[in-house]
Amino acid sequence: MSASFLLAIDQGTTSSRAVVYDAALAPVASAQREFNQHFPQSGWVEHDADEIWDGVVAVCRDAMAEAGIEASQIAGIGITNQRETTVIWDRATGKPIAKAIVWQDRRTAEHCRTLEAAGHGATVSERTGLRLDPYFSATKIGWLLDHVEGARARAEAGELAFGTIDTFLLWRLTGGDVHATDATNASRTALFDISAQRWDDDLLQIFGVPRSLLPDVRDCAAEFGATAPSLFGAPIPVRGIAGDQQAALIGQACFAPGMTKSTYGTGCFVISNTGDTLLRSKNQLLSTVGYRLDGVVTYALEGSIFVAGSAIQWLRDALQVIDSAPDSAAIAEAHGIERDVIVVPAFTGLGAPYWDPDARGAVLGLTRGSGREALVTATLQSVALQTWDLVGAIREDGVTPAEIRVDGGMVANDWFLQFLADVTRSHIERPQQTESTVLGAAALAGLQAGVFDSLDALSGAWQRDAAFAPKLGEADATTLTDAWRDAVARVRG
Ligand code: ADP
Repeated sequence: MSASFLLAIDQGTTSSRAVVYDAALAPVASAQREFNQHFPQSGWVEHDADEIWDGVVAVCRDAMAEAGIEASQIAGIGITNQRETTVIWDRATGKPIAKAIVWQDRRTAEHCRTLEAAGHGATVSERTGLRLDPYFSATKIGWLLDHVEGARARAEAGELAFGTIDTFLLWRLTGGDVHATDATNASRTALFDISAQRWDDDLLQIFGVPRSLLPDVRDCAAEFGATAPSLFGAPIPVRGIAGDQQAALIGQACFAPGMTKSTYGTGCFVISNTGDTLLRSKNQLLSTVGYRLDGVVTYALEGSIFVAGSAIQWLRDALQVIDSAPDSAAIAEAHGIERDVIVVPAFTGLGAPYWDPDARGAVLGLTRGSGREALVTATLQSVALQTWDLVGAIREDGVTPAEIRVDGGMVANDWFLQFLADVTRSHIERPQQTESTVLGAAALAGLQAGVFDSLDALSGAWQRDAAFAPKLGEADATTLTDAWRDAVARVRG
C-alpha cells in the first residue's frame, strides 16, 4: 500500500489535535485532547511540555486508529503550533528544565521596558518586524536562564536546547535526533533577522541568549527527520512545520500578495500576504514571515485583536444574556444593526493598531430602551469594527485585500459575517473547511512528500462555502465606524 495519507498535528494553546487527511486533503479522522493551564502568579501562564507531549502522541495514535491506517501509509507529518511559547530542555535527557512560558505570559514586561529605555526597540523592530514585547520568545528564554538554577552556565556549556513547541515536539518525535524549526516560528522569537533569514548576533547579545541553545531554521516544507520507530510502529517522516496563524494563511490558500485571512477564535488574527516585500508598517502592525518554500520567503503583515469570540463567551458566562454562542446570530438577526449602543471589549487592553495595554472595556450610548438584544448585537458588531480598524491599518500600509477569507469558531455566524462585509467594505469568503490551521500543516507535509506538486494544487482545493458582499450603504457604514472610533478614543488608557 502506498503512503498517501497525511497526519497533521495542531498543538494549540488549550488543546492538541491530530487530523488524518487523504491525498485530496479531505479530513478522514481526528482526535483532540485538552491539557492544563498553570497560572502561578498574576500575569503568568505556563504549560507542562511533558503533558503536551503525552497528549500529542495520544491524539496521533487515536486519529490513526480511527482512520484505520498504519504508520507506513502516512506520507508525512505536518506540525502547526501555538507560537512564541518557550521551552528549554536538557539535550542529554530531553527533560524540560522548567514549565514552558506561554505567549500570553507578561512576566518579562519590566525587562522589555528596560530594553526599550536602553534604546533597543528600533533594532528589534528593524531586524525582526516585531515589537519589544513580552509576547515574543526572547525575553522568556532570558527569564528561564536567569531563574532556573544553573541554567545559564549549562546553556553556555551547550547542555541545553531552546525551542518553540514545534521544535520541542520535533526533538521528541525524532528521539532527540533533530533540533530544528521553520522560518515562521523562528520569526516570532525576536532573535531572527527576517531579511537575512538567520539568527542575529546583536539580538542574541541584547537578549542575553547563547547561540548554542538555538535550533536550525528550515523551510516550512522540508525534511525534518523521521519519528522514532517505537512511537507509531514504523518511522514517519516529518515534512512540514508552520506557526498557527501562518498555517492558517496556507490552509486558506492565500498565496498571492494582498490575499488576506482573518481567524475568529478566542481572539482574532488578520494576516495579509505581502509577497517578497518586507513591508514596514506605519500603523503598528507586525511584519513577519508568511511562509518559506524552496528558500524563498513570502512576507506578511499581521494584526491581532485580543478579544473576539471571548466577547461572546462574556455575554454567555459573565452577563448570562445568551445561553450559547450560536444564539447571538438569531438575536442580532431579529434586532438588526444596533446604532446607539457601542461595546468596546478592551478587557485586557487593545491590540493592533492601538497597542494600548491600559485601555479597558466600556458600554457606551445606553438609553432607557437598550436591552439584551442591543447588547448582544453591539458585541458582535464590536468584533467586526475591530477588524475594520485592522483592515484600515493594512490598507494604509499599502496592501489592498481584494477579499478576506475567514475561519475560526465565530464564522458559523452568518449575521456577523454580513456585518463584517458591511463595515470593512470587503468581500468576505468562508471556505468549506474552516479548520484552516491544521489543514495548512497537512498541506505543507503533502507538498514536501510530493502528494501535490505545487501551491496551485492547494489553491484549486480551496472551496468556497459562502460569500458575503457589502449591502449597507457607504454613508451608513461610515456613521457606524465614526461612532466606533469615537468610542475607542474614550476608553484609551
Ligand atoms: P479557539 O481556537 O481560540 O479556542 P474557536 O475557533 O474554537 O476558538 O472558536 C471559539 C469561539 O467562537 C468562542 O469564543 C465562541 O464564543 C465563538 N463562537 C462559536 N460559535 C459562535 C457563533 N455562532 N457566533 C458567535 N461566536 C461564536
